[in-house]
Amino acid sequence: MINGERKIAAPLRWGMIGGGRTGQVGYKHRTGALRDGTYRLVAGAFDLDAKRGRDFGTNLGVDPDRCYDDVQALIAGEADREDGVQVVSVATPNFTHFPITKALLEAGIHVICEKPLFFTVAECDEIAALAAERNLIVGVTYGFTGHPLVRQMAAMIASGVLGEIRIVDLQYTHGFNAGDDTNASEAQKWRTDPAKSGPTFVLGDIGTHLFYLSEVVLPDLRIERLLCDRKAFIPSRAPLEDNATVLMHYDNGARGHLWVSSVDTGNMGSQRYRFVGSKASVEWSDSRPDQLLYQVQGEPEQILHHGMPYLEPESLAVDRMGALHTEGLGDSWANIYLWIAQAIDAKRRGDEAFLQTHRYPGMQAGTEGVRWLENCVRSAKAGGTWVDYQ
Ligand code: NAD
Repeated sequence: MINGERKIAAPLRWGMIGGGRTGQVGYKHRTGALRDGTYRLVAGAFDLDAKRGRDFGTNLGVDPDRCYDDVQALIAGEADREDGVQVVSVATPNFTHFPITKALLEAGIHVICEKPLFFTVAECDEIAALAAERNLIVGVTYGFTGHPLVRQMAAMIASGVLGEIRIVDLQYTHGFNAGDDTNASEAQKWRTDPAKSGPTFVLGDIGTHLFYLSEVVLPDLRIERLLCDRKAFIPSRAPLEDNATVLMHYDNGARGHLWVSSVDTGNMGSQRYRFVGSKASVEWSDSRPDQLLYQVQGEPEQILHHGMPYLEPESLAVDRMGALHTEGLGDSWANIYLWIAQAIDAKRRGDEAFLQTHRYPGMQAGTEGVRWLENCVRSAKAGGTWVDYQ
């Protein structure tokens, strides 16, 4: 169990770009990063509105001299300090991820970036090469995948208790955009602008979470072909989509279906993952994150609770709260941030052996998410036809 005991040599000096007062995701980053004392927030360019960003950063306890107007000012201001930032998180709209990540890496700073990582796989490859050349880590905040019951599903499937995996059933839907965008928030406006959101809306915004979690649970399965049908039920969102269905053929013969939507009116269920094997199935949803359904054909359904000794060691090792108490999204983000901190710490110490086996969402996870999006868009643009996975 994780108990907050020191996990790396010394806390990392951490900064943020974006994630300011009005930002949706910024607090999730701070919830994850500041949990175990592995990061100390020392600098930031928190907001497009520099004055508001400075005021916000000061209220978070950051030295006003280290609340910067933008990323370039942060890089310049931190460069000559002995105690300058070592790692910076990027919690800004999608179109800014690539230039901000590139600038930070060029300045020798590790990066933790939001998903979808970039617009194209070519951009991912460029950044992967740059990070390798500079010996730096890029982490990606697929924040839901740090939950111990996700590790439990992966361990059960790896041990064979489910048998051969036949069906992968993934759903992340909500109804927050069921109405039109007349009074849309800033966060909603950029999400439906292809220049700012990229080639997708809900596929990138929430579908990449589903895809990465399925990769964590089924690391050996590869998609061979997929078909993506997407639609903007609110016409102003076209050519991007507010609803999409993706069918996938895996290399072991398994079938996958994935539904993402922001027009699933009234649904507050958020995410649901179901993995069906030849012997048994497991199902987990972040609306009831403490419980994993385990269903063996012909037997009563079992509900596995997080933190209980009957779970796999891989799951118990990353549990934080212990059984009987709620273990949720904040705990999951804390694990993601911890695992990335451990990767950065190992990189700094030159411990490549640790990095070989250490699991965290990094550059490859970000790249595979973008690759999946490129395939979805190629299929959708061809009229929702099957395409070979590239
Ligand atoms: P948002 O529009 O609510 O907030 C963006 C924040 O970034 C604001 O504070 C804004 O002032 C600031 N900002 C914008 N451009 C900036 C720049 N160039 N320099 C400094 N600050 C800048 O957006 P959001 O919903 O918080 O989404 C941000 C990113 O996080 C997106 O990529 C989104 O896909 C991702 N996201 C991820 C999760 C998750 O669970 N991992 C959840 C929500 C959003």
